[in-house]
Amino acid sequence: MLIILRSHADQETIDRVVEQIEKLKMQAHISQGEYRTIIGALGDETPIQPDQFLAIDGVAKVVPIMQSFKLAGRDFCPEDSIIEVSGVKVGRGHYAWIGGPCTVESRESSLDIAAAVRRCGANMMRGGAFKPRTSPYSFQGLGEEGLKILSECREKHHLPVVTEVMDPREVELVCKYADMIQIGARNMQNYSLLVEVGKANKPVLLKRGPSASVKNWLLSAEYVLSNGNKDVILCERGSQSFETDTRFTLDVGAIAVAKRDTHLPVIVDPSHAAGRWNLVEPLTLAGLAAGADGIIVEVHNCPEKARCDGPQALTEKRFSELMKHARALVNVLGKQ
Ligand code: PEP
Ligand code: MN
Repeated sequence: MLIILRSHADQETIDRVVEQIEKLKMQAHISQGEYRTIIGALGDETPIQPDQFLAIDGVAKVVPIMQSFKLAGRDFCPEDSIIEVSGVKVGRGHYAWIGGPCTVESRESSLDIAAAVRRCGANMMRGGAFKPRTSPYSFQGLGEEGLKILSECREKHHLPVVTEVMDPREVELVCKYADMIQIGARNMQNYSLLVEVGKANKPVLLKRGPSASVKNWLLSAEYVLSNGNKDVILCERGSQSFETDTRFTLDVGAIAVAKRDTHLPVIVDPSHAAGRWNLVEPLTLAGLAAGADGIIVEVHNCPEKARCDGPQALTEKRFSELMKHARALVNVLGKQ
């Protein structure tokens, strides 16, 4: 249920509405726009009678929320949200330009790559310390040592870092080092992990599962939001399909649908969709043209020696070209 207040309603009205919501054993979520405050009452709606709210002076309207993803949807928050990652804004014309290795491999290579992506204009760095690998025999990442290396990259190159968390028991550890925590595609529907990051005090980058619908993706975001964490950025990274020339099929339609249905920023990961470096730039541009609020791209100082995902990694030179073209595109779109 949405309780829409009259324009410029005062704090006392807000407090009375929140008190009434809590009396009904529901949760209140406040969305304060420039002119109007909307308060969402979340939980079992059966005991609600609109009159219980309409009787409060300052309440304009009481309407049901139609979308099942109540907090992620635009019913509750019609305007695009801006999410801040350690000072870097994302959304509503602010772009995330994220580059870095698939996996943190060593201190030297990570510092080199951090310097390179920074030179190319990236405003965040990516790198996995806990890696979800298909085979248990593949390199699983450096764990906490990798997180420490990422921290050093942040300090030296002034780049907030984003890294994946796979296990609810490791959320606290990853939050100690990361500026944004990534939920990988394979974990999009790991609900106990979503609940845990929902309680964390760090922005979450939520990747879309390879065979998840946009609706289920937004419901996963709802898990994080409804547990108290309002800072969610979505990431399209390609779906499983019959195509074999690309690793996954980048679903640009899903970016447009997500942008229509949610106020949260949506970014594109062209690297995992492409699987090959020479397809990364066209997919980046397609994602941005479809409305993405940023990119997350794999970059390596020596792709042929990368321990993971080398064939899709860009060199500094290629990433620099991509960044030029991506910036030119968003200027043409009149968005930056
Ligand atoms: C990654 O970002 O390195 C990764 C494993 O991505 P995904 O979860 O999209 O496969
Ligand atoms: Mn990768």
